[in-house]
Amino acid sequence: MRHRIAVVGGGPAGLTFARVLHRHGHPVTVLERDPAPDARPPGGTLDLHEGLGQRALDKAGLLAEYHALSRPEGQAMRILDTDGTVLRDWRPRPDERAHPEIDRGQLRDLLLGPLDVQWGRGVTEVVPGTRDGALVHFADGRQETFDLVIGADGAWSRVRPALSSATPHYTGVTSVETSLDDVDTRHPDLARLVGDGSTAVYGVNRSLVAQRNSGGHVKVYAKFRAPLDWYTDPDRFMGLDRRADLDAGADLGPGAGLDPDQGLDLADVEAVRSSLLALFDGWAAPVLDLLRHGAAFVHRPFYVLPVSHTWAHVPGVTLLGDAAHLMPPLGVGANLAMLEGAELAESVAAAPGPGDLDEAVRAFEEQMWARAGEWAKITAAGLERLVSPDPAQALALFAEVQPS
Ligand SMILES: Cc1cc2nc3c(=O)[nH]c(=O)nc-3n(C[C@H](O)[C@H](O)[C@H](O)COP(=O)(O)OP(=O)(O)OC[C@H]3O[C@@H](n4cnc5c(N)ncnc54)[C@H](O)[C@@H]3O)c2cc1C
Repeated sequence: MRHRIAVVGGGPAGLTFARVLHRHGHPVTVLERDPAPDARPPGGTLDLHEGLGQRALDKAGLLAEYHALSRPEGQAMRILDTDGTVLRDWRPRPDERAHPEIDRGQLRDLLLGPLDVQWGRGVTEVVPGTRDGALVHFADGRQETFDLVIGADGAWSRVRPALSSATPHYTGVTSVETSLDDVDTRHPDLARLVGDGSTAVYGVNRSLVAQRNSGGHVKVYAKFRAPLDWYTDPDRFMGLDRRADLDAGADLGPGAGLDPDQGLDLADVEAVRSSLLALFDGWAAPVLDLLRHGAAFVHRPFYVLPVSHTWAHVPGVTLLGDAAHLMPPLGVGANLAMLEGAELAESVAAAPGPGDLDEAVRAFEEQMWARAGEWAKITAAGLERLVSPDPAQALALFAEVQPS
């Protein structure tokens, strides 16, 4: 029997699910809100781990193509002190394949392959248990029913409310991203600083991480502990009184571009730059150059779902990836999302009747919850150490997970 299956979301979870199901000869409807694959920048680089993301790509028959595209040298990890001293400089062996990096856009295109995604189909709600199956409501007012709807629609899932009342909460750590293009020709010093992979600097309750993507593109992440609305009163957040300093005729230094009487407009590139330079004031000049030369800035607070988020099973609907278990971005979210997608697709493909389909989903959920719960604990503890009052914690964490 052919089940009518829809997956909501064409991210790593949804596309891996669809691709593996497609490989098993089963039709699947992919509903994606974005109007086109290139409608927005795809985001930074991802490292896919041998036992997780790479296993998923193997199940999709795409492992060899991934190895051809990925950057094993991107596994390199350098850690600097805030004064620029190199504290750790780990480089992979030439044959190291534990977690090579791949650009998100390349991964998306690899997974898309022959899939016929329905672009521009934003889902607003899913109502399970109607006479004809799970009813999907779309932003354009249309409706469609399926035997199984899979919510792979990320952190702010519109499918999740059909199963759970949980909503993401702020971790207390936020991030401002920027990027540099053509580093090897335009910023050769920064290209050397970043190297082939990642370079990270950890300070008190803040860090700067720069990651090389393909084609000389570098993404820079300034992460810091802050109230969610820190930018409404940056002086108070940074413990500064620049109005008094200005009135006393002082040079405001790296924060000079900020109006001391105004909140920070996150769309004002130069004001955000000034604010970040003030926040990281005193760090080595070459490290701060990553912020000085960054193009646009994107504010991305880190939200998470409760650790070990589960729900009472509801026939006809389930969740995958960030929609099920949003956790801090410590290099596993996409890996888990992809492995779950591949495993659920294999289970669905092996389920002949409606009862079998429901049993397959129920068993999958149990397996996903157990594994994701463990990773949620690990990543929550990891975030505490990586953006910590004691920067030595970050170095100690790397020594534990990546012994030299
Ligand atoms: C800065 C940063 C760095 C990271 N680095 C790594 C890393 O190195 N390794 C790693 O494993 N993970 C990493 N992660 C985590 C990883 O990005 C996520 O865990 C992963 O993208 C989750 O995949 P997903 O498919 O579940 O959700 P998403 O990637 O969020 O995809 C969801 C998709 O659903 C679509 N969608 C949303 N709402 C709707 C709707 N209502 N209707 C239809 N479609 C909808 C979206 O447009 C999107 O295409 C990082 C995260 C961040 C923020």
